[in-house]
Amino acid sequence: MKKILILTAGFGDGHNAAARNVQEALEQTSPEVEVTVADLYERSYKKLNSIAKKAYLGAVRYAPQLWAGFFKLADRSPWLTDGRGLAGLQKNLAQLIEETQPDCVVSTYPAYGQLIESLYRDHCERPFRFVTIITDARAVNSLWYRAGSDRFVVCDEETAEILRENGVEKNSIAALGFPVSPMFAVPQKDLPKRPSLGTPLRVLYAINTGKKKCGKAIDRLLEIPNVELTVSVGRYSDLKEKLARRAQENDGRLHLLGWTNQMPQLLMRSHVVIGKAGGASVQEAIAAKCPMIINQVIPGQEEGNANIILDSNIGAVADGDKEVASWVERLAEDGGELWTQWRNQLEKVSRPDATSRIAQLVLDECDVANKVSRPEKFPALPTTINGGRTFIPEQSGILTMAMRAQIARNKTGSLLCDFHVHTNYSDGRLTVSEVVDFYGVRGFDCICITDHWTDTRRLIGKLARLTPLTLSYDQIEEYFEVIAREAKRAWRRYGMLVMTGLEFNKDGPTKKSSAHLLGIDLEMPISPRLDLLETITRIHSQGGLAVAAHPHLMKSEFAKETLYLWENQEKFAPVIDAWEIANRNNLFTPVSQRRLPFLANSDFHKPKHIYSWKTLLNCEKNADAIKECIRRNENVSITLYRGEEAPAATDIPASIQRQPGLPLGVDTAARQLTETGADERLVLRG
Ligand code: ZN
Ligand code: ZN
Repeated sequence: MKKILILTAGFGDGHNAAARNVQEALEQTSPEVEVTVADLYERSYKKLNSIAKKAYLGAVRYAPQLWAGFFKLADRSPWLTDGRGLAGLQKNLAQLIEETQPDCVVSTYPAYGQLIESLYRDHCERPFRFVTIITDARAVNSLWYRAGSDRFVVCDEETAEILRENGVEKNSIAALGFPVSPMFAVPQKDLPKRPSLGTPLRVLYAINTGKKKCGKAIDRLLEIPNVELTVSVGRYSDLKEKLARRAQENDGRLHLLGWTNQMPQLLMRSHVVIGKAGGASVQEAIAAKCPMIINQVIPGQEEGNANIILDSNIGAVADGDKEVASWVERLAEDGGELWTQWRNQLEKVSRPDATSRIAQLVLDECDVANKVSRPEKFPALPTTINGGRTFIPEQSGILTMAMRAQIARNKTGSLLCDFHVHTNYSDGRLTVSEVVDFYGVRGFDCICITDHWTDTRRLIGKLARLTPLTLSYDQIEEYFEVIAREAKRAWRRYGMLVMTGLEFNKDGPTKKSSAHLLGIDLEMPISPRLDLLETITRIHSQGGLAVAAHPHLMKSEFAKETLYLWENQEKFAPVIDAWEIANRNNLFTPVSQRRLPFLANSDFHKPKHIYSWKTLLNCEKNADAIKECIRRNENVSITLYRGEEAPAATDIPASIQRQPGLPLGVDTAARQLTETGADERLVLRG
């Protein structure tokens, strides 16, 4: 077993993503790895860290010039080198190394080199190999290389040259490419062909800033004939609502995506992407061989990224939306001349498999580390918890993640389950992978993701405001693909089963005419337009379960009641597989009085909803056994989940708190939408 510790931080652009991608590639490359990803800043200074992040994001957003100044200052000042004020970080790092016993430590954030150097300064030799993955390109902050590292991974030769010029040992530098998602290395169908008259130019517009003006920018682009525009609004779910009318008016030419987990695939299928000069964004476009038109550059930090595009001749940097549109116009109208030029250049510089190459380098470094015999490794540090070594997990009582997953996969009986979970494909707070990690680390055995699925084309007037709160037609296939992919990861990493489901929202004007129906363990989408009986038939024909969600009066939540199924039991009881006897904090006593088959679910929308009713199943751990257990409704019980930590909002693990790089205000906007959006909740809560 090779043990790898990846250190990251939520500041700035792309450190966390790089860490996640390398972890993914390592786990895909070798079954014999144990990877731990940690953000020491989050662990050490929870509160301070969030203030620092806000300051960073605020500065970037409101005063880019100020940030540029800070960036230059950080490059010169020794504020991170003397170890003062870093005692907390240092203590945490020592503890983490103690716990994880890594063969190799990988850093995706500049400051960790200094920290490791000061930790192993004079008492002992470092008992692991150290690999630094530099996520800057061209403009490399010297913090990255001021301290030593066994290997430095950089994205290209030009960046390698900068390191060499600054005295970094040349054999330690590997220009392997940027650690993009391993998905970039998966071959795609439907690749873009040379644009010519008659074939549409597929334009991907990733909105991460300037959302106020984006409507106008979109209109400009749609004025160009032949343009087929896909707009990804990311976490700005309110934008989806604002732009919904435009999408309807431009049927087929404008696709609106909320948060997407398929950026690699989208980039690979597009002729050109419009976006800001973030390090990760630029590198992803290059990996996907997708020419880029940059519409925003943060001075200092992002200039290097913009220069890559210009120097390599693989896109353009535009000043304002008008110029963006004129570049797109040229692409659409010159018979594919410019596009082919850019694309050919991209073929030369693109490294879609960079991350698997980086993973291989890390695994090789583990082998180097293992040549040092075990007892010599990990001599006691001044801050160690249990002194010297010979680390045997079984004896110390510490189970590694891999061992835990192994045990979890083979478990039988007493399965902790939650079959009603929302993500940000509808009105949930977390992404699918965040949900998987959130439940995975809590030791759940089976969950089913059930985002709202409503026929939005029928929602008119006031109700059309629900559009961002439900899955969209444009993303329903992506939803199935992403959950299937995440299910594999969940099984590998946590031994947790993840099923795909849908919550069919059939809302009428009154509570007696409204019903929410869960389809659990579905293989493919089912039209949201069918009536309830037809929907249930389709669910069953896929081997899924049809479950009545919150079928009775709810006391504890301010929500629209959905009583239709309950009121029409003689019709539905024969075909419904189970009724929710509990939904979050509500208990529905009549379900037990009638002796109906039952389930208990969180109706999870955000982390605090984990503290709620759940189902315990006494059966084997596989999808068929679980569904059969629910159908027969034997050996089913319910439990009120409390977990170990106090249910304070601040106790959410760093990894699922917030996406790095999320501008201020978005989180607040999302929260307002879900917490105070009383009208929305009236209909779509569930
Ligand atoms: Zn729900
Ligand atoms: Zn519901």
